[in-house]
Amino acid sequence: MEVTFYGVRGSCPCPSEANRRYGGNTACVALTLAGQDPIIFDLGTGLRAFGDTQPVDGTFAGTALITHIHWDHVQGLPFFPPADRVGARFDIFGPQQDAGSLADLFDGFMRPPYFPVTCSELRGDIQFHEVLKDDLTVGTAKVAVRPVPHCGATVGYRVTWGGRTVTYVSDHQAPLDLDTVADSVLELADGADLLIHDAQYTRSEFEQKAHWGHCTVDYAVTVARKAGVRKLVLFHHDPSHSDERLDELLIEARAFAGVSGPEVIAAYEGLQIVI
Ligand SMILES: [Zn+2]
Ligand SMILES: [Zn+2]
Repeated sequence: MEVTFYGVRGSCPCPSEANRRYGGNTACVALTLAGQDPIIFDLGTGLRAFGDTQPVDGTFAGTALITHIHWDHVQGLPFFPPADRVGARFDIFGPQQDAGSLADLFDGFMRPPYFPVTCSELRGDIQFHEVLKDDLTVGTAKVAVRPVPHCGATVGYRVTWGGRTVTYVSDHQAPLDLDTVADSVLELADGADLLIHDAQYTRSEFEQKAHWGHCTVDYAVTVARKAGVRKLVLFHHDPSHSDERLDELLIEARAFAGVSGPEVIAAYEGLQIVI
């Protein structure tokens, strides 16, 4: 299983000279499984670069697993030509919303005058699937879906294929004690080979934004340790964190993990991990 990071930021795209190494696109991570169609975690602005790797002759087929429908997780879809071709097929899984069906909600943000065409006018066959607490099969991969604390309906995913497991928890509201972990998240991450996890804030930032739906870098390490994860990828970086700041946060996270904790790396655009 190969994991490729196309967008690693939270909240808002932030390309700049100061963010050159880690990148400024929002959440999008692709899984390549031998002999299978790709699986994509979230459709943030990183999706555009993923699209450059995919066919635009109508043969594209893939599955998106989206955690929720905040802008930073869906804004790439209008800029994904592989799905805008007759014959293409795109299955999009995401959490049930009180405000309406996923298909209607996507058409709500992707339509004139915001964008020239609606989602339903894309020429590919785009199918939405609403999930919350489900166990799915995608190709020959097993996919577990569980709720994750955040702002509004949000889920995380656990994908197991070929005896390897990758867990994706992009946006995670930490409790004020920065220690307890929801059972649903522990279930998703239990013994995973790789955990991709929210790492938006420092402790002092969390004190100012404790109810904004995210967690600290240390809390990501705590989740990984409690779940017995082998490798943790810090993800959903705050747009205000420059390359130098992220380097510092990674060093601090590794110190917090200690020798007995998980291996810790920080996601950057272009990072590829084979597990
Ligand atoms: Zn987000
Ligand atoms: Zn969010």
